[in-house]
Amino acid sequence: MLKKILSLDKCAACRNCCVFHEESRWETPIVSKEKAIAIKKALKREDCVQPFEKSFVLSSVKREIELNEGMELYKCAALDEEHGCMLSSEEKPFDCSLWPVRVMKKNNKVFIMLAEGCHTVDNTFVEKVNKLLLEGLKERIIEEINKNPDIVKPYSDNYIELCDITGEL
Ligand code: SF4
Ligand code: SF4
Repeated sequence: MLKKILSLDKCAACRNCCVFHEESRWETPIVSKEKAIAIKKALKREDCVQPFEKSFVLSSVKREIELNEGMELYKCAALDEEHGCMLSSEEKPFDCSLWPVRVMKKNNKVFIMLAEGCHTVDNTFVEKVNKLLLEGLKERIIEEINKNPDIVKPYSDNYIELCDITGEL
C-alpha cells in the first residue's frame, strides 16, 4: 500500500519493522480470525499467531542472530532472516501493508500517525503520505478499522500526528 513511496533498498537493508525490542513487542501486527487461519496455513505453524482481544496477533520469537547493544531482539514469526516476510500480499497483515503509517487512539480520539523511527521517513515523506491519504488511503484505513477496531494501537509520542479521523469512524 505504501510500497510505491518506500525505498526498497533501504527496506532490504533495514527490516526494522519486522524486528522488535522487548518494549516494542506491542507493535507486532494484529490480524482478523480469517487472516490468522490463512497465516497459520501459510507458515504451517499453529503457534505463529496468538489470540488478542477479538482478533489475533503475530507471535514474536527471540532472534538468535543478533543482539542490539546487549538488548534482546524479537522477530515476527513470519520473518525469514534471509528472505524477508514469508507471507504473500494477500496473507500479509493490514498493519504491515500500512507501515510506517499507524492508527492510534488517545482519549477516545483516533489519529493517523507516522513512525519517526522508519529510516525512509523524512520531510518529503510526510508530504507523500499526506498525498496518498487524500487519494484514497484514508478511506481504506477507515474501512479496515470498521472491519477490525483492534488494529488501532495505543497512542505513542514517537509518532508524528497526521490527521484526526475520529469523526469519520
Ligand atoms: S522501518 Fe522503514 S525503512 Fe526499515 S524496513 Fe520498515 S519500512 Fe523499510
Ligand atoms: S507479517 Fe511479514 S511484514 Fe509483517 S511484521 Fe511479520 S514478517 Fe514483517
